[in-house]
Amino acid sequence: MNPYSQVLTRCNGSESTGSTRKRLQSRAFLQPRPDTKMGHLSNTQIHNVNVKSQRILISPAELKARVTVTEELFDFVARSRLQIQHVLDREDPRIMVVLGPCSIHDVEAALDYASRLKALSETVSDALLLVMRVYFEKPRTTVGWKGLINDPFLNDTFEIEVGLERGRKLLRDVLAMGLPTATEALDPITPQYLQDLICWSAIGARTTESQTHREMASGLSSPVGIKNGTDGGLDVAINALQSVSKTHRFLGINSDGKVSVFETRGNAHGHIVLRGGNSGPNYSKGHIAECEEALLNAGLATNIMVDCSHANSEKNPALQSTVARDVAAQIVVGNRSIVGIMLESNLEAGSQSISKDSTALRYGVSITDGCISWATTEALVCELAESLRAPLKQRAHLANARQS
Ligand code: PEP
Ligand code: MN
Repeated sequence: MNPYSQVLTRCNGSESTGSTRKRLQSRAFLQPRPDTKMGHLSNTQIHNVNVKSQRILISPAELKARVTVTEELFDFVARSRLQIQHVLDREDPRIMVVLGPCSIHDVEAALDYASRLKALSETVSDALLLVMRVYFEKPRTTVGWKGLINDPFLNDTFEIEVGLERGRKLLRDVLAMGLPTATEALDPITPQYLQDLICWSAIGARTTESQTHREMASGLSSPVGIKNGTDGGLDVAINALQSVSKTHRFLGINSDGKVSVFETRGNAHGHIVLRGGNSGPNYSKGHIAECEEALLNAGLATNIMVDCSHANSEKNPALQSTVARDVAAQIVVGNRSIVGIMLESNLEAGSQSISKDSTALRYGVSITDGCISWATTEALVCELAESLRAPLKQRAHLANARQS
């Protein structure tokens, strides 16, 4: 049997006709090469068949040397993580509010937003702990722009090294303003480049069920919010919470970029984030009670954050205020499980289509999910602080009474 016949027999199970053979021979991966013995496929013909290119990226250590961070900022990250942990452990009665753009695409606008948020955070800090969304990695339902790291120039040039550097610089600058940072941990490699500058992380609705993301979350240094799945059910998130609290062993890269086996401790500060789902919102009093019960049954702490956006706002950003007010009203009448609120907010309201011509984009407007404007955000956050100040003191009083 000649080499071609051997290959074709392996593929088809029998000797092929002349025309089939011609068609298959025209496909490069079936063509015997001079360096193959008797037509056996070489490694280069069967490996990375669908990979077009590879290039070596800067290592985490090299990026950290390029974008240096002071000891003071590391102290600030540590203190901010601790404050969030204290909220989750009920040692701090405040409500954590994770707010900011759905995604960062314009670093200058993000810093403009951050400076306003810092001023606002000081005026409400007795009731609310504000944490800025600095989201660089966007999970897509099908395809689309995947965020600042993946494509920082928004034009399909995918300059990932530039994206990582811009991301690290922005995190450093936001922290330097005195604002804690939040992000979605999507790519399992990027935490080695950025997680030292993150105070709170999310695992998104599309990846809550993924073992890779649960393993990663078990090793993240920050507290981590686990979104309910896109179907709106709680089971996947509850399973994820149990998984992320445990030790795991898996593959990753070390600070020199070498593939390594990681063994994690488990993340002791995982909590659920309700974001609604395909069948609608899930922030009502009934939904919160159902979530509390599911957490208790699984032996988990009853710590709930409500995302006022996504399916809870039915993708209408203007409804975020309605959701936030409903959640605050639940706390006012005695709810004890809600510890956090998430808002998607930007300088300007709404969203705009992505354009490869960056001059065509409107300043301060989201290019992913629609957001509430800065003016709405400021008024809403002040209103939440005002309505929650006294009830949160009462909550703290009840917690202290329980402890003594
Ligand atoms: C987001 O926070 O922008 C996001 C994508 O959330 P979710 O995973 O809930 O869709
Ligand atoms: Mn979003």
